[in-house]
Amino acid sequence: MKPVDTFASLDELDSESRYLVHKAKEASAHAYAPYSKFMVGAALILDDGTVMTGANQENAAYPLCMCAERVALYAASALHPAQKIQKMAVVAHKKNHKELVPASCCGACRQVLLEYEHRQHRPIEIVMLVSEGQWIKCPSAEALLPHGFSKENLTE
Ligand SMILES: [Zn+2]
Repeated sequence: MKPVDTFASLDELDSESRYLVHKAKEASAHAYAPYSKFMVGAALILDDGTVMTGANQENAAYPLCMCAERVALYAASALHPAQKIQKMAVVAHKKNHKELVPASCCGACRQVLLEYEHRQHRPIEIVMLVSEGQWIKCPSAEALLPHGFSKENLTE
């Protein structure tokens, strides 16, 4: 399995990753996060160059809240089902603060990423800020969620 690459600043990332981070930042402005005030944006790029974005969507009934990553993934799958997902960037900031804060994909989003990765038979790269000044480019959902649950577990 390819290693997870780490970067001390955004400038060290490749241009496509930086572009997706930029699009994820833009998307975070559309977060509906009146409860957590934690604004998250995700942007992914498909094989044909289409960029799909998502932002977290909260609800007064807390368990119904949806992460930015899954908003983007589900939209991509529903609107561009024939296109494979190459890469996704995720960013977060506090409401009314521009500075990005570390935000790592939650377990549920890792599981959903893994399903799409298996479905398209190709890894999805994930870019995120995991601690102050440390970006990572993860080579696959599998690397984010080793030994994840899959359809193989459902076969008899
Ligand atoms: Zn999540």
